[in-house]
Amino acid sequence: MTTDITKCIHCHKCRDSCAFLKKYNIDIGDGKELRELAFHCFLCGTCTSVCPENIDGRKVILDLRRELVSSGRADLTARGYRTMLWEKKNYKFRNYRHAGEGAVLFPGCNFPSLYPKTTALLSRILKETAGIGTVYDCCGKPVAELGLEDEENRITDEISRKLKDCGVKEGDNSMPQLLQLSQGKTGYSCSQHI
Ligand code: SF4
Ligand code: SF4
Repeated sequence: MTTDITKCIHCHKCRDSCAFLKKYNIDIGDGKELRELAFHCFLCGTCTSVCPENIDGRKVILDLRRELVSSGRADLTARGYRTMLWEKKNYKFRNYRHAGEGAVLFPGCNFPSLYPKTTALLSRILKETAGIGTVYDCCGKPVAELGLEDEENRITDEISRKLKDCGVKEGDNSMPQLLQLSQGKTGYSCSQHI
């Protein structure tokens, strides 16, 4: 995989498979236009999977976002992310009180808010049948996908520290855990079962 868009042969396969690229009539190889529109992409990765030149379109766009953020040109508030950042940067519903040693259920922030009863049931079953605790936190994905690299690193470091403080063992992936913690950067092995 590469992020070198000069390798683009403009076959339009990415455009043909993406509503966003189609709407603006551009390919991943159209760097100048893509920079202007970097926050319109869903980061779904379809463009990456169809590219015959192995260009990682998703990474190209994420890198553009990071570049815009680090140069102060992203203006995320004006783009409507103020509320999301307020909630996720320091996740308001964070709760490590029910973590146990060993493995934990880490359902992230979206799953419990969309399916609170299912989360509560899963949490209870795991606790009763296997002594597994539950941790409620945001893994940092929404913040990371806006290109806020420093915040992403701070969040994953904090999760890592909190899990360690709770006695959760590194590398223990023998029990169901629902979320990969920000691409494995925390050092804890995680597996997805739902
Ligand atoms: S699929 Fe790859 S080579 Fe084809 S236009 Fe898109 S980025 Fe360029
Ligand atoms: S990652 Fe972005 S550009 Fe690529 S297919 Fe998904 S929405 Fe389109």
